[in-house]
Amino acid sequence: AKRMHGCSFSIYEQSKDRTPSYQGLLEADIWTALKKEQFQLYYQPRIDLLSGDIVGAEALIRWNHPEHGLIMPNDFIPVSEHTGQIIPLGFWAIWQTGRDLKQIKNAGFSLAKVGVNLSFRQFQDDHLVQTIHRIIESEEIDTRIFEFELTESALFSDDQHVQKCIEQLSKIGIDFSLDDFGTGYSSFSLLQKLPISSLKIDRSFVAQLPDSHDDTEIIRAIITLAHNLKMRVIAEGVETKAQLDFLIKNKCDQVQGYFFSPPVPLSEFMKMLKAD
Ligand code: C2E
Ligand code: CA
Ligand code: CA
Ligand code: CA
Repeated sequence: AKRMHGCSFSIYEQSKDRTPSYQGLLEADIWTALKKEQFQLYYQPRIDLLSGDIVGAEALIRWNHPEHGLIMPNDFIPVSEHTGQIIPLGFWAIWQTGRDLKQIKNAGFSLAKVGVNLSFRQFQDDHLVQTIHRIIESEEIDTRIFEFELTESALFSDDQHVQKCIEQLSKIGIDFSLDDFGTGYSSFSLLQKLPISSLKIDRSFVAQLPDSHDDTEIIRAIITLAHNLKMRVIAEGVETKAQLDFLIKNKCDQVQGYFFSPPVPLSEFMKMLKAD
């Protein structure tokens, strides 16, 4: 499980020339990749700080490009959001998570939650709720395992349609978490109003722990806020023992980060479940 992210080579990252023709090239390539099944989900374990066990994972998309190797999401998700391709790509990710969860279940493992990132653009598809329903039924997934990760920009656009979708999905037992918490604009009234079950502390706050006075205070405040609102708190980007110790001491619920594992392919993730 030692394949660190960041050492992958990507032509798209190197090309700073984001001209329309560059984007057109990437757009055409994304369609090809969807058709030829070049996308793959990696899983990063989520560790519960009370038990020390792997209780879940976050599904993160990767692109196995035949010429350019492994391409990271920041190199194609923004473009796919711009072109609208995030809608079919996002469905593929939900569907693949469903298929992978079935495989995990058939191997005899059980997970509490698997986080799937949902882009604000995916709510522009009128079939979002219906399709998620269909995936859950066809893969016989326990709806409570799915946890969609939303960023503040998706939620706080004050969009009635988005809020309605979230409420409908919540009624069938699907959970939501707020990703990159602390980096965007949060309205506390919406936090209370929407069925959000966890806050994920952005890794920029975790990075300077435990030395930065500001960051330790911010993290303590987020944990208190979440617990007062009956939400779970997950810290992202935990890389060191000192960061982990601070989070345990301050009653953070769960962590993700390179200290435990980078995101890995499903087969490797299942090996980790076996060893756990
Ligand atoms: P995110 O949702 O905030 O995901 C967390 C990112 O932090 C991941 O980057 C993960 O590999 C990285 N990470 C995890 N632990 C550590 C650590 O200890 N240190 C550091 N420095 N980084 C860590 P990744 O996989 O490159 O994904 C980047 C972003 O792409 C994600 O950010 C998410 O916004 C987006 N993304 C990934 N998969 C999907 C998807 O299926 N759908 C959508 N809509 N977006 C996705
Ligand atoms: Ca996420
Ligand atoms: Ca995040
Ligand atoms: Ca992010």
